[in-house]
This record gives sequence, structure tokens and C-alpha cells, in this order.
Amino acid sequence: MEKVVSGIRPTGNLHLGNYFGAVKSFVAMQDQYQCLFFIADWHSLTTHPKPENIQASARTILAEYLACGIDPTKAPIYIQSDVKETLELYLYFNMNIYLGELERVTTFKEKARQQPDNVNAGLLTYPTLMAADVLQHRAHKVPVGKDQEQNMEMMRKCARRFNNIYGVEFFPEPQNFYFGEKALKVPGLDGSGKMGKSTGNCIYLRDDDKTITKKVMKAVTDSGPTEPNSPKPEVIENLFTFLRIASTPDTYQYFDEQWNNCTLRYGDLKKQIAHDLVEIVAPIRAKIEEYSANTELLDKIAREGAEVARASASETLKAVREIIGFRK
Ligand code: AMP
Repeated sequence: MEKVVSGIRPTGNLHLGNYFGAVKSFVAMQDQYQCLFFIADWHSLTTHPKPENIQASARTILAEYLACGIDPTKAPIYIQSDVKETLELYLYFNMNIYLGELERVTTFKEKARQQPDNVNAGLLTYPTLMAADVLQHRAHKVPVGKDQEQNMEMMRKCARRFNNIYGVEFFPEPQNFYFGEKALKVPGLDGSGKMGKSTGNCIYLRDDDKTITKKVMKAVTDSGPTEPNSPKPEVIENLFTFLRIASTPDTYQYFDEQWNNCTLRYGDLKKQIAHDLVEIVAPIRAKIEEYSANTELLDKIAREGAEVARASASETLKAVREIIGFRK
């Protein structure tokens, strides 16, 4: 059975970008693949070097994963820092990837712009750590959003380069997996590109109904369609993206027709989106509260997940050491 691995950094609560871009795929994949999902607490140090309470933050994401429907009996969940084998593979990949290749990664350049006083080596080597996360399990598929496409290319490069240098066919080249047909970028509702924690434009899975509705009703729009069948400007396309991911195809078509014949009222469109998002988020929010209260269960799930992950990673690392020529 093909293996699937993916993770999310515990730098804040899960938002709709994380949910529709990644976690929804995690849930859909757990019945068909051998899945392992993790919480990337080491990765979070690239942007948050002095976390307030990193264990509590990891638990938060764990509770949110469970509330979204990940079943740890099918798909074990572990915390990245519980599996030290990752670091050894990270080191080997760092030996095989060139500085120039890492410097060209767009997410690195973006982060370097966002935190000019802390352009640390971890930020630069983010893709090799991500490659180690996945390749230590020799996984074939990685459910991620569109923003991760370049990191996925670096991951395949790590696999290919290792295989070429040592003359082996050891690592598979993991493919991006998208829940729909193509990569999804969940937009922000403030007209500023993607929904993301650092931009402060998120709708969170923990948001209550009123907050969700307020955020959607405040979404940036324009003065409305003037020409029939005209292309949608970006801020309007963003609203339709929400309709596509949160509403039924009939609803999408209904509003699309209204756009095309210039009768669309943005207030109605927003009300519909808010309603449909609340329908999705409210039951998840209730489960988050339930799971968050049960730290014993959360810690047990993380412990058991770490055991599975360590067993899988140490098997890979044993073979890697042998391939490179280290003592067994
Ligand atoms: P991050 O919150 O940046 O650690 O991202 C964790 C996962 O959520 C990754 O797989 C991202 O691709 C995905 N993700 C985050 N924001 C978005 C977004 N706005 N649209 C689609 N996927 C996203």
C-alpha cells in the first residue's frame, strides 16, 4: 500500500487554508493509504524561536486534527520532535543540496523578507527538513496546498540526488496530492493573496458562528458587475473560491449565473458563504473543545504515533547508513 505523510506547524490554530488545503485530504486519504501525520514543532522554530508553550501548541493541533476526522487507529499522529531519526536524514540531505538551490526557494525569499532580522539557517534548510520528514518513511504522496509546490520539488530533488550519488533506487519521489483535481490556494478575504497565519486574515476552525459571519461579511469586494459574462476580478474570484469549496455545485452555479447576468448582490453571496462555512466549522469546533479537554488521550495518541513513526524512520535510517557506508 502506498504511504502518505504530511504535517502542519503548531504556530497557531488551524485555519480554513490548512483545512481545505491539507487536513481535508488527510482525512480522505486515511482509508486508502498507509498514512502518518505529524505536527511540525521543529519547523515552527524557524519563525518562532522562543515558543511560549510548544507542548501545549502541539496538543492544540493534535486536538484539531482529531476534530477534523483523522482517526489515529488508521493514521497515527506524531510530534516531529519525538522522532530524532529525522535529524540524521536532514543532515545527509543538507550535504547533497546546494546553497544556491535553497536560496532560490520562493518561500525562503518570502520569509527572509518578512523577518529580515532572523534569516536563520533553519529557514534556508526548511525544504531539506521537510524532505527528511517525508522520506524517512519513504512516502509516495504528500497532501499539501499550492504554496508547498516548490518545497515538494526540493523534496524530489533530495530523493533523486541521494539515489544518484549512491547509485541506488532507494527513495521514491513523493508526489503532491490534492483533494480536488488541482492545487488549492485558499484566499484571504482581505484581498491580500492567500489565507495565512502571518497575514492575520484567517478564519479559524475555533471561530464561533458570529465571528465567521462577521469575517465573511467584511470581505473586500468591488462595485459590482457591469458587463454581462465579464471575467471576475481577483477579490470576487476569491469569494467564488469559497463557494466552490464550501457550498454545493448548484449554489455555485446559481451565483455564477447571477454574476454573468449582472444581478449578483454581494451581500447575498457573502451570507451564503458564511452560512455554508458555519455548517462545516460548527461541528468541528464542538469536537475541538471535547478533545482539547482530554490531554491524557492526546498524549497517549502522540506517544503511540511516535512509536510507529520511530519504527518506520529507524528502518529507513539503518538502510541509509549502510548505503552511505557507515558502520552498521
Ligand atoms: P502552514 O500553516 O503554513 O504550516 O501550512 C500547513 C499546510 O496547510 C500546508 O500543507 C499548506 O500547503 C496548507 N495551507 C496553508 N495555508 C493555505 C492556503 N491559504 N491555501 C491552501 N493550503 C494552505
